[in-house]
Amino acid sequence: PGKWHSVPLAPPDSIFKLTAAYKDDPFPQKINLGVGAYRDDDNKPWVLPVVKKATERLLTDPELDHEYLPITGLPSFTSAAARLILGPDSPAIKRGHVTSVQTISGTGANHLGGLFLSRFYKWSNEKKIYLSDPTWVNHFAIFRNVGIEPLTYPYYDPKTIGLAFDLFLETLSNLPERSVIVLHACAHNPTGVDPTREQWAQIAELFLKKGHYAFFDCAYQGFASGDLDNDAWAVREFVKKEVPLLVCQSFAKNAGLYGERIGALHVVAPTDEAAARVKSQLSVLSRSEISNPPAHGARLVSLILNDAELFADWKRDISTMANRIIDMRKELYRLLTDELKTPGNWDHIVNQIGMFSFTGITPEQSQALTEKAHIYLTQNGRISMAGLNSHNIRYFAESLDKAVR
Ligand code: PMP
Repeated sequence: PGKWHSVPLAPPDSIFKLTAAYKDDPFPQKINLGVGAYRDDDNKPWVLPVVKKATERLLTDPELDHEYLPITGLPSFTSAAARLILGPDSPAIKRGHVTSVQTISGTGANHLGGLFLSRFYKWSNEKKIYLSDPTWVNHFAIFRNVGIEPLTYPYYDPKTIGLAFDLFLETLSNLPERSVIVLHACAHNPTGVDPTREQWAQIAELFLKKGHYAFFDCAYQGFASGDLDNDAWAVREFVKKEVPLLVCQSFAKNAGLYGERIGALHVVAPTDEAAARVKSQLSVLSRSEISNPPAHGARLVSLILNDAELFADWKRDISTMANRIIDMRKELYRLLTDELKTPGNWDHIVNQIGMFSFTGITPEQSQALTEKAHIYLTQNGRISMAGLNSHNIRYFAESLDKAVR
């Protein structure tokens, strides 16, 4: 006892391990395509100009103090965050059916949403949650931590490098009624493959028919298309159809506030009275876990969302990021197909959405890229498009070309 002999050594987190290996590599043309954080064309982290402006306003505010926020967060942040995802004219918000709590970024929202369901959802028998295959790997541990068993449903079809839509729908329709299912609101991580609007509408119908509960994870609003409303379409469609749901929201990527850990959990309840009861319990859960959420990121996002000028600036910054990524997709596609005549079909590079692209290469080819070309990516062939820029994209395309020949 005390020496912790029975504690097994856990493996390091695969993504963060990749970054460490990249940092240690002295090769000048090395590329890191592992981590999902935006980089500018010079491979530098980008502080959004709107965030700089908001920070200045915040720091010159003579009233600024460091008091605790309310347990459920900064009200001007949570209310604006709800309008951002559900829409400024959302009837659910107007009727008071939406309850919103500030969380430790998207991870904290997933955790609190999972914890709340674990305690209060009317489970038919065991607590099970269904995740897309594949998904953000952290989903598995987050739900296990709160006593919910994660299972998967088919989502990605390696043959088409696209959505396995029929199999996905069929599986969902065969699950027990009132199953809880995680959906990526936009820019699916890791595949970059999203359903079309028609497909989303069909999925929503199925949820209604089966009474399934939609656990939306929204980590990339604005990042997918460059348009905040467009990327919220699926969530709003489900709300409009009155599918029971919650939404986990992160401002890590779309505001570049990764380290500030700013996010929210929104639960859409059937009545205002149910929403109030849900909020009271979310407050109790949050109190025991974090007591009060951190203030800085909440203040920044609140300023940005509630000030017309800053909001317009933010939209411009979001399209700067989204467009750079879309340009990288187009350029990679052009290099592979037109210039290098790389064997295979690369349409998915331009069809996939958001920060990540599933290249469709094998684990052996991924490994060869790392070992021979000093290009760091996860074994599943996922690349972060944000790691590519005008200086390194040709080297990447040529290395990929070599790896698949
Ligand atoms: N969900 C998904 C699907 C993600 O990709 C991420 C970020 N990698 C998150 C949630 C949460 O990220 P954060 O906690 O940094 O907001």
